[in-house]
Amino acid sequence: MFRTDRLRDPALLRNQAFVAGAWRDAEGGVIEVIDPATGERVGTVPNCGEAETQAAIAAAEAAFPAWRRRPSAERAAILERWNALILENADDLAAIMTAEQGKPLAEARGEVLYGASFVKWFAEEARRNYGDAFPGPAGDRRILVLKEPVGVCAAITPWNFPIAMITRKVAPALAAGCPIVVKPADLTPFSALALAVLAERAGVPAGVLSIVTGAPAPIGAALTGSASVRKLSFTGSTAVGSLLMAQSAPTVKRLSLELGGNAPFIVFDDADLDLAVAGAMASKFRNAGQTCVCANRILVQEGIYDRFAARLSEAVTRLALGNGFTEGITVGPLITDAAAAKVSAHLEDALAKGARIIAGRPEEARARFVPPLVLGEANPTMRLANEETFGPLAPLMRFSREEEAVAIANATPFGLASYFYTTDIRRAWRVGEALEFGMVGLNTGSVSIEAAPFGGVKLSGLGREGSAYGIDEYLELKAFHMGGL
Ligand code: NAD
Repeated sequence: MFRTDRLRDPALLRNQAFVAGAWRDAEGGVIEVIDPATGERVGTVPNCGEAETQAAIAAAEAAFPAWRRRPSAERAAILERWNALILENADDLAAIMTAEQGKPLAEARGEVLYGASFVKWFAEEARRNYGDAFPGPAGDRRILVLKEPVGVCAAITPWNFPIAMITRKVAPALAAGCPIVVKPADLTPFSALALAVLAERAGVPAGVLSIVTGAPAPIGAALTGSASVRKLSFTGSTAVGSLLMAQSAPTVKRLSLELGGNAPFIVFDDADLDLAVAGAMASKFRNAGQTCVCANRILVQEGIYDRFAARLSEAVTRLALGNGFTEGITVGPLITDAAAAKVSAHLEDALAKGARIIAGRPEEARARFVPPLVLGEANPTMRLANEETFGPLAPLMRFSREEEAVAIANATPFGLASYFYTTDIRRAWRVGEALEFGMVGLNTGSVSIEAAPFGGVKLSGLGREGSAYGIDEYLELKAFHMGGL
């Protein structure tokens, strides 16, 4: 069980769902949540299904008229209070996250701050819901464009960022005047419930935010099947995203889908080596490689390959694998046994096809703890070049020409994040335009900030989150024609 002595405020650890402004159990019993570091039970949460999900949708529908009419300054003030409470409770939220997700405590705290940044951002955006006004083509008409909330929203979120993936959806929905029903990942529901405790304290009215925990399929079916839910925002795998898209078709919902990636990370001969190594470490090993924007294929030009490989190997050797609660640990366990098995399968496949381990301590592998490794001489025929590895394997692939690197980078059905390192301004522009991805990082390994639009193309999804554009996902445009003037 979770050690509540780790929390300043034990009331943040809730084992009930939050539906229609009340904490409740479910008809379907409970599901267990496991600490991936120890394999022990963190606790249980209700196994909600159709009945609880319908109750949450009904409460959201009931809350919608008053919430949308609330002056935007008041919605903004509630979001500002929620942001402040998240920041005040950052240590507790981080401890809950590490217990159920496994990431090192300092990194979990970093995610809490990142998650809060969306609440702050959209508190500010709530006040800037500008429309438009212009004359019609005939002289007797004026056209107004009004932005109105889409209505009841649903969010389905993944386990790898148990807080940030929720605030990135809930904050713009609330700012736009929409109520929202959240189904958090069944592996990490406690972080979501703690956020709801703080939202309630911040003054979010009953029904405006519900958290429905439990096994995914029945809740997903109820949310997608409901005609009252006008919008679904999903972050997770491409397979589940496309299933939810199909389930949403009969009710023609608005959709935002943040799906999987297969990020290229290209290092050209003229790169700043220090920046490139620092960027690769951040992009590849954050959250033990379990991020959708994680460098999956590291393409290194032949003139710098040996120096880059040596410097990256040195840095990887300094990483420390272990329980995220232990001081000094920088890489935690993977989320499940299946996740660890996938990384092993990618490693075996790569070794069989000619790659070799050039850095790391493979002998440290045990249970869900997967040691960070650098692989030399990887190539595009390997599984790790075509599927998300979602683990701490850094495969280096050698290339000789710029066009070759761009072609390899784009040869994937995914299009989320991409990164490249060069000091040549003409190449920077050329390659930046040629990469077919929703996000491009030039000389940086980080593209996830609240101020920039986040999202992908191709199988990586639809829509953008964060930034001034993110609130548009929760707003409809109404054209108001004023004639006879
Ligand atoms: P997943 O698709 O298995 O699960 C995501 C969410 O969907 C979870 O809440 C899960 O419980 C739920 N779910 C699963 N099956 C469902 C069903 N039949 N009906 C309704 N809901 C269902 O993905 P995951 O393993 O939790 O997360 C990892 C994936 O998410 C990776 O592919 C990663 O790239 C992607 N991801 C993308 C982004 C992004 O912004 N693009 C961010 C983080 C993670």
